[in-house]
Amino acid sequence: MSLPFNTTQFLTSASTLKQCPPDQGSEFAFCGRSNAGKSSAINYVTRQGKLARTSKTPGRTQLINFFEVTPDVRLVDLPGFGYAKVPEKMREEWHRFIDQYLRHRDSLVGVVVVMDIRHPLREFDQGMVHWAAETGIGCHVLLTKCDKLKPGRRNQALMDVKRQLPDSSTCQVLSSTHDIGRDALIDTLSGWVTDPGTPEPGSARRV
Ligand code: GDP
Repeated sequence: MSLPFNTTQFLTSASTLKQCPPDQGSEFAFCGRSNAGKSSAINYVTRQGKLARTSKTPGRTQLINFFEVTPDVRLVDLPGFGYAKVPEKMREEWHRFIDQYLRHRDSLVGVVVVMDIRHPLREFDQGMVHWAAETGIGCHVLLTKCDKLKPGRRNQALMDVKRQLPDSSTCQVLSSTHDIGRDALIDTLSGWVTDPGTPEPGSARRV
């Protein structure tokens, strides 16, 4: 069953674990380096042009934003990494918050790691992919802006990235500007929530 992404609504923003909504149901988190195309991907999958802001200021990027897909399912926008203009201390603080969120959030069923298809698997991306594989939560890699490559190079890039991913990760190409990949993304995210084979959320994280 496909989740109804087009009726997604903004729920709340949080800058501490306590401010996050109750840790119930299922949620999946979009993360990625700044400029990877994360906001565009969220707006595209929800078919709502302004849900996630595509122009960001350092202050706003510190917040984790929660969106309600259904009363039991949330889409989470994690702050972008690598924002050059942010002071070092601020960067440390928000890394700590994201780290806490990832470790302690029981309802987190998977992460969507957003990468520009022309610059995939940078250090941050590798860290997230391997963390997800070790902890047993879902991991789906989105290679965005695939319209920037011709089909041959696009497929080559997809195969190269797949080869480097752990077996438990999945990967696809996406273009929010050329309407490529929305159904595949919805299928994967819906599968995380409805697939009875999905490991119990948070089960491997505290051992
Ligand atoms: P974020 O920082 O990861 O949230 O990235 P944004 O969603 O703000 O996108 C960064 C830049 O890439 C913006 O200028 C977008 O217009 C552009 N962009 C995002 N997705 C696509 C895409 O699928 N195709 C193309 N050509 N440009 C894109």
